Amino acid sequence: MPQPLPSEDQLRLDIVEVGRRLWARGFVASNDGNISVRLPGDRLLMTPTSVSKGFLTPEMMVVTDLDGRMLSGEPGRKPSSEILMHLVAYRQRADVHAVVHAHPPQATGFAVAGIPLDRAVLAEVVTTLGSIPIAEYGTPSTPELSASVEPYVRKHDALLLANHGALALGKDLFAAYYKMETIEHFARISLVTRLLGREHLLSREEVGRLQELRGTYGIASPAPVCPDPASGDDPPCQVLQAPSAPGERLVLDAAVGRARVAIGNTGEIQLTYAELTTLIEGAVRHLTARTMA
Ligand SMILES: [Zn+2]
Repeated sequence: MPQPLPSEDQLRLDIVEVGRRLWARGFVASNDGNISVRLPGDRLLMTPTSVSKGFLTPEMMVVTDLDGRMLSGEPGRKPSSEILMHLVAYRQRADVHAVVHAHPPQATGFAVAGIPLDRAVLAEVVTTLGSIPIAEYGTPSTPELSASVEPYVRKHDALLLANHGALALGKDLFAAYYKMETIEHFARISLVTRLLGREHLLSREEVGRLQELRGTYGIASPAPVCPDPASGDDPPCQVLQAPSAPGERLVLDAAVGRARVAIGNTGEIQLTYAELTTLIEGAVRHLTARTMA
């Protein structure tokens, strides 16, 4: 039986709680971050500008329509400056009922370094989020940022924003918040793994098995993970780095030059088409440089 929808009063309290958790976990500093929830009647309940998310009160929230026009709120309050990014998510995805934006330090580090969290590493993350790409940089609070986010929110529940932070979408407020926790937790684990210098990736075959689990456990996803990252975007899919290694479940991913090379247990080196191209291009550049010298 579907759960009854929480009342607006309850949602105001829930936003206060989620804001407090974002602040307590260090996912935001100062007045960073914003939270919104869908209300009946094509309206949104949203955090106001210029307030620490650790010290919200239920009365502070503002109500807007889906065009971002303010419908109600305390005198002097204005909706979050990132409202455009929230509106894009709600317009693109009827299944999204809450949006959480924050600047968690490790995930934001990946966003600044330009490294997406798109490797098949943790079964839990593959099953719940799939891949976490980086939306191109756009000036915060402007249509530039919402335009860069738009193509990504169609296919992902979690994304990084280049040189800015992270965005999580959910079927309800706590689902979106937990996705933000997963993004940061995954970023931290990825950082440790890369510092250790070895990363065992799940094979493409194993990723296929995990996708089937989504169906078993009723985990909704806006798009499937591509069986082959080179298969393009028709139908829309999420790109996840998972080496092809028939019969293998884990594949050692060793760094060789700029290309990553997957080595199976047989010692056979397996390259994706993109990795092979990178290697060939590197060799050609090297030869050209020697010829010119
Ligand atoms: Zn931000």
